[in-house]
Amino acid sequence: MLIDSHAHLDSPRYADDREAVLRRTWESGVGAVLSIGIGEEPAQMHQALEICRQYNGQPNIPKLYSSAGVYPHNTSEINDAVLAKLDILLAEPEVIACGEIGLDYYHEGAPHATQREGLIRLLEVAAVRKRPILIHCRPTDNTTNAWDDLFEILEAHWRPTGLGGVMHCFGGNYEQARRSLDLGFLVSFAGNLTYPKAQPLRDVAARLPLDGLLVETDAPWLAPAPHRGKRNEPAWVSLTAQTLAGLHGSTEQEIAQATTKNFNRLFNIRPDVGN
Ligand SMILES: [Zn+2]
Repeated sequence: MLIDSHAHLDSPRYADDREAVLRRTWESGVGAVLSIGIGEEPAQMHQALEICRQYNGQPNIPKLYSSAGVYPHNTSEINDAVLAKLDILLAEPEVIACGEIGLDYYHEGAPHATQREGLIRLLEVAAVRKRPILIHCRPTDNTTNAWDDLFEILEAHWRPTGLGGVMHCFGGNYEQARRSLDLGFLVSFAGNLTYPKAQPLRDVAARLPLDGLLVETDAPWLAPAPHRGKRNEPAWVSLTAQTLAGLHGSTEQEIAQATTKNFNRLFNIRPDVGN
């Protein structure tokens, strides 16, 4: 069984066929999906949880978990009401993570200082609720600026919690991956691992230990080859798992076993009893 550790199931792009997408996911051997609760703005943070509740328990649908968080470029919207909403969501048993949160210096949006201050406030809420975090980190091209700021913040405000997290859609170098593992994080690879130009990223993935890895789709974005450019869906996480297997000289089944074990360990999930 594979787990897609990061998909935006609440995207409007699934409005017409979400159930069919989830059935295809199940049929392709994906047993669980972590549905990311950021919506398009903080007011929609709860949508992922609602989808979990709508589908969990139905036959031939993967087990759904959700997260809640504020995307880096929405940090200008953080106020007491947003933090209170996040806190309430993180208290729910299905909401196993806080994210995706982090720093994005690549796209135009919230000022960098606003992102850093916002991230620190979000970490405080996640720490109280004891939820691992899902990090989005994207530096300006040819720099390490967002990574440098991120590690400084995590060392001071997150390492002491011992809660760990996930470096979602990892796109950094080996040193950044190594530092992430040292912080108790898992490194999650998405469909971009399969792209022709991603050889440097594949070289990083090949050097990381299997007990530090996850796979994800980041659906509806970043469809893996040969579906690149199309709407992505969790069923296609197996293509990233196959690429990872090739890099590690292992089988897709071994990647599925390792990443599922890692997921369950990080989020304290006992698969025999559900969560
Ligand atoms: Zn995402």
